Amino acid sequence: MSDLTLLKLGCFVASGVWVALILVLSVKYPYRKDRKILRKWFWDDLIMYTIVQSVVLGQAIGWLIKFIDNSTNLSRLRLVSDWPIWLQLIFFIVLHDLFIYFFHMAMHKNAFLWRFHEAHHSIEDVDWVGGSRSHPFEIMINQTVEFGMIVLLGGAPAVAVLKAFVSSTWGIWIHNNINVRAGWLQYVINGPEMHRWHHHPEHDHSNYATKLAIWDWLFRTAFYPKDRVADRYGLDDPSYPGGYFRQMLAFFRSQKPAQERSRQPNAG
Ligand SMILES: [Zn+2]
Ligand SMILES: [Zn+2]
Repeated sequence: MSDLTLLKLGCFVASGVWVALILVLSVKYPYRKDRKILRKWFWDDLIMYTIVQSVVLGQAIGWLIKFIDNSTNLSRLRLVSDWPIWLQLIFFIVLHDLFIYFFHMAMHKNAFLWRFHEAHHSIEDVDWVGGSRSHPFEIMINQTVEFGMIVLLGGAPAVAVLKAFVSSTWGIWIHNNINVRAGWLQYVINGPEMHRWHHHPEHDHSNYATKLAIWDWLFRTAFYPKDRVADRYGLDDPSYPGGYFRQMLAFFRSQKPAQERSRQPNAG
């Protein structure tokens, strides 16, 4: 078995342990006590968004990046190939996190781009599996940039594997229903205390950060009420459908759901 296969296997096992830990802690120390583990749309989120969509898009994005690399030959420049693995990993985490901060903000502010992101905000139960609910078009853009930069700049294949592991465990972390108190760390590293407010329909024009909360503090988009509970999540749009396939098609619907939203520049 090659080192890369072993690394993939290790990340797969560690992801399983991580999910089990999050589940145990969210039962023992729940943030919202009215939440259920097997809630509405749980199986859609787990089977369609987390498993089927991830596998299919992973292949498609891999082919797309290979095509871009074959057309440009950028990876032959080996711009970061001589860096140690840990430095490559930190570099790509920070670079991608900065990109996703601005792309995330753009999806909230632009009526057309909002269609890419609407599915993610349709989650009414913010929990470990709900966070994977993202429209495939949003994933295509986000992950092509995320893994494309690693391949095109000559990053090691192990860095792509580790980056995928960090991104998926982080997605599970920021959407969990555990009563986390990170203290001063929330000013540096992002966690559920700020991200769950991003899923509150009145405060979704704040807290755009994914891994580093620094961006929200730096660009003045942070919303961090410490003594209040985010009492509801989701879209204030009863016309938005539930279920994987209907949400796929909702992208093409004729109404422009973000127009009203863009009139409230910062509800937070
Ligand atoms: Zn958002
Ligand atoms: Zn989210």
